[in-house]
Amino acid sequence: MDAAPTRVKGILGTANPPTGMPKKEKEEFNVPQHTHCKVCGKAIPLGQVYCSKECMEKDRKQQRRSSTMFTVYMGVVAAVFLVLIFITAHFK
Ligand SMILES: [Zn+2]
Repeated sequence: MDAAPTRVKGILGTANPPTGMPKKEKEEFNVPQHTHCKVCGKAIPLGQVYCSKECMEKDRKQQRRSSTMFTVYMGVVAAVFLVLIFITAHFK
């Protein structure tokens, strides 16, 4: 049997040098208390909901649309329900 000399790969003696990772600058950036625009996410002073009238309008429109969709949906459900009741009543 031939015992081949095993070579140890890798250097065991060297310790990993500390990588020079710079501290995150964001942590040092001290922002006064603020909130974000409900629509676009811009930073705005506390107490405000939107950054501009544009965003306010956008949100209002969206809300109106979603409430309209809800009303339509409820109307459809009610209509289906009424039809079902009507059919059931007719088949008795
Ligand atoms: Zn906005």
